[in-house]
Amino acid sequence: MLSWDDFNSEETQKTPVAEPAKAQVAMQQTAVVNDDAVTPAKNPPISTGAINDVSEALDNLDIEKGLEELEGASSRVDVDQKQMINCRADVNQLVPFKYDWAWQKYLDGSANHWMPQEINMTADVALWKDPNGLTEDERRIVMRNLGFFSTADSLVANNIVLSVYRHITNPECRQYLLRQALEEAIHTHAYQYVIESLGMDEGEIFNMYKEIPSVARKAAWALPFTESLADQNFKTGSLEDDKTLLRNLIAFYCVLEGIFFYCGFTQILSMGNRNKMTGTAEQFQYILRDESMHVNFGIDMINQIKLENPQLWDEAMQTEARNMILQGTQLEIEYAHDTMPGGILGMNAESMSDYLKFIANRRLTQIGLEEEFPNATNPFPWMSEIMDLRKEKNFFETRVIEYQTGGALSWD
Ligand code: FE
Repeated sequence: MLSWDDFNSEETQKTPVAEPAKAQVAMQQTAVVNDDAVTPAKNPPISTGAINDVSEALDNLDIEKGLEELEGASSRVDVDQKQMINCRADVNQLVPFKYDWAWQKYLDGSANHWMPQEINMTADVALWKDPNGLTEDERRIVMRNLGFFSTADSLVANNIVLSVYRHITNPECRQYLLRQALEEAIHTHAYQYVIESLGMDEGEIFNMYKEIPSVARKAAWALPFTESLADQNFKTGSLEDDKTLLRNLIAFYCVLEGIFFYCGFTQILSMGNRNKMTGTAEQFQYILRDESMHVNFGIDMINQIKLENPQLWDEAMQTEARNMILQGTQLEIEYAHDTMPGGILGMNAESMSDYLKFIANRRLTQIGLEEEFPNATNPFPWMSEIMDLRKEKNFFETRVIEYQTGGALSWD
């Protein structure tokens, strides 16, 4: 526990000081305050004129003006005034809650807090440095995925803080967006931590999103959706602009986080299941837990916006949303072929393609569209133990409790 007594005694402790530093130390000591006394100040006091100026400025503070400048009205917020977008109610009043699902996800995300350094990377370092530890195909999978993810989570974080946040006019959703932004930073930290632990060429990995076509094409697909919103002149409020925001949410939540992450997650978790790169796999498992919630939150946001603004969800928009999800699925299938030119870890590009179609169906139905691949099945039943898409809630409930009690992840 921190104690102010310790703080004061440390700060006031006299240590031998070199002659030239004495004057500076004397100055610092004038600022030390403890329970009993204030060290006499040697600096000149603030002049009476300055105090008068300060008082005058504070006397003239106009709280009405401040409130007018806040986004929305200055009055107390009624729950019925709250809306996902284009809301004029004060966004600084968190309560009363309207969207309990958003607040609950904020609480669940916070309960899941973790940090990359908590995970032991020793076995991974030994395996990675052993020339016979991994096959070339396995090394390719580790490197490609670190290349994709190390920048993808950064793209997502930038999309939240620079594009989406200011257009979502609901404070409980904003609260979760802030939590999500922190989690994206932790994920980027996790990839950096793995890259550094394994002694990889950082420049090579962090530039794959520009240099390796299968990685670059996924980033290039997502970027235009964030650029249109990042323009400081962009505002929602018209049919077309509201659709632009909705498109962004579908691109980032349903496709980038909802499809583009799934080939890589499956590959790395498969390595962990086979007792290879277990530290890296554990990092990915924690990330996947967060990401599953990001996707669920995004889908809840999309559906709530549709509910409140049915005019946005016209036939053209539905066709567009379907095409976006199918384009994303196609790009992820290309990525599967690039990262798995042969069979590896009990999977290959064909079985991954089936799995991605199964996930695409899930994303389509989650936003109210028909399945595109009616016969798609999940070819990796072992993944169900970790991230069964139909039991995501149960998955979180168990993981949350384990993490809060300090339990480690288990591959059993
Ligand atoms: Fe995410």
